[in-house]
Amino acid sequence: MPMIINGIGVSRGITQGWIHVLKRGETAIAKRTLEPEEIEPEVERLNEALEEARKQLREVRDMVPENMRQEVTGFLDAHLLMLDDSMLVDTPTEIIRNQHYNAEWALQDTMEQLVAVFESMKDAYLRTRKNDVQHVIRKVQENLTLTDSGGGGVQKRDLTGRIVVADDLTPADTVLIQHQNVAAFVTQFGSSMSHTAILARSLQIPAVVGLHDAGMLLGDGELVLVDGHGGTILCAEDANWLVDQYREHQRVEQEREEKLMALRDKPTITLDKEPITLKCNIDLIEEIPRVHEVQAEGVGLYRTEFFYLDRPEGASADEQYEVYRDLVLALDGKPLTIRTLDLGADKEFDPDYEGAISPNPALGLRAIRRSLQNKPVFLAQLRAILRASAHGPVHVMLPMLTNNSELMQSLALIRDCMKELENENVPYDPELKIGGMIEVPAAAISADVFARHLDFLSIGTNDLIQYTLAIDRVDDQVHYLFDPLHPAVLFLIHHTIRAGREAGKPVGMCGEMASNPRLTRLLVGLGLSEFSVHPGSLLEIKQIINHASSEELQKQCQEILACTQPEQIHDMVEALAKS
Ligand code: PEP
Ligand code: MG
Repeated sequence: MPMIINGIGVSRGITQGWIHVLKRGETAIAKRTLEPEEIEPEVERLNEALEEARKQLREVRDMVPENMRQEVTGFLDAHLLMLDDSMLVDTPTEIIRNQHYNAEWALQDTMEQLVAVFESMKDAYLRTRKNDVQHVIRKVQENLTLTDSGGGGVQKRDLTGRIVVADDLTPADTVLIQHQNVAAFVTQFGSSMSHTAILARSLQIPAVVGLHDAGMLLGDGELVLVDGHGGTILCAEDANWLVDQYREHQRVEQEREEKLMALRDKPTITLDKEPITLKCNIDLIEEIPRVHEVQAEGVGLYRTEFFYLDRPEGASADEQYEVYRDLVLALDGKPLTIRTLDLGADKEFDPDYEGAISPNPALGLRAIRRSLQNKPVFLAQLRAILRASAHGPVHVMLPMLTNNSELMQSLALIRDCMKELENENVPYDPELKIGGMIEVPAAAISADVFARHLDFLSIGTNDLIQYTLAIDRVDDQVHYLFDPLHPAVLFLIHHTIRAGREAGKPVGMCGEMASNPRLTRLLVGLGLSEFSVHPGSLLEIKQIINHASSEELQKQCQEILACTQPEQIHDMVEALAKS
């Protein structure tokens, strides 16, 4: 009997392979009291294990492919920094010297102390930092054991065609297994926003996370099919049947790709002649060729937080300008929408930032709030964006606006920046479009105010859902409550689109909902006229739009909007998608 196991699909791709269960951190840590003459050699042993861990991380860092360096190495650098942190070096040394315990136990004690501190913070992002501490300390403990049994070094394995199953993977593990040609990975912990998930996408490894019983359900050597998009693992005793399934999947996928590619140069327009704009969301310049390949009409969301991933001080104005300029030039006349910094909460990369210990960072000083409190950083970014606008069409987009005052302050700063550039005779586009993200229920409800003062609105459904339904988007314990079809969410989307239409301003959507082809007909029916999506979904969405009548869908959506029963709404949207 075939068995389907469901987790959270975080990195696209369907692949088949044999399970390789990665066992880590299972060695029992012995507690031993040292004789006085053993103390200094033990400190020396600890230092050697720490140095070995640094060496291993640097080795892994060198394995990162050149075009993925920036965002991937950031995670590894954070671990390297931890290995030099006094908490991690001095505390175990003091335990060895003052309490006379062995190095493994001194590290264990240090880890427990640090984990207790992180746990008391009760914040989803800081919980992931707790995992980082555990990852780093376990690596050093492993090295202590390995040194005893004859040397560590980065493990050389060949995982070609293997599906790695693990409780959790460190950033270094993820890079390493990619280097060892792994076909996919499945982890017990993690969410779509965890470091491991972000890395899997960057390294293009199909991945499913949050599969709580992974270790129990999947055994070494078993042949399985992993769907990193749908989040499913298909297991069957009959290997031939599974191979057939895989081949069939591949054949269907290839046929589908070919059909979709034929749509590339066709306009996106409904049967009743409503034109719809399709753009892409990107994080890296390396994704631009894909934007051209699918003939998107531009970039509807370029996230800029990666400038901060590997350095708390971020990139300078000049460095940012160069990146934006290169993107504008690479887009060759298509508009680039640059979202200003959205640091904080799930995008907090600096553990020392004081906001990182805020009791609830998702409701704290993040996104535009943080930019407005740190004007030199905000102005440097605005200046870089404006300078880049001299090279081609640029839109600037403000994240997480909540009230009119934030909007007015931001517009005033943009104007100040423009004046400064004029005084310096530095070219920029005075017609540059300024838009805002609707991500907070308050902003959606008062969308008319934002539409009046801005050139465009873009609905960020990832956050809009988080804030409307009061669920932390990175907390996999409440992932089951993340419902894009909740009547309140649909109401806010519809309300925002209507407000934009009444003000004569375009309303787009750049949250994940826009990239889900099962929701395309619903969104067209709600009146959405611009979608900004993953390049991989764009052509499928175009195909759906080109076969739909906007007027018909709008009528059908009225019934959905009037319905208050979540289950019924799901059924109706499903039926709408298939109609
Ligand atoms: C969103 O919130 O929908 C969005 C697009 O922004 P991010 O996912 O970067 O917060
Ligand atoms: Mg957002």
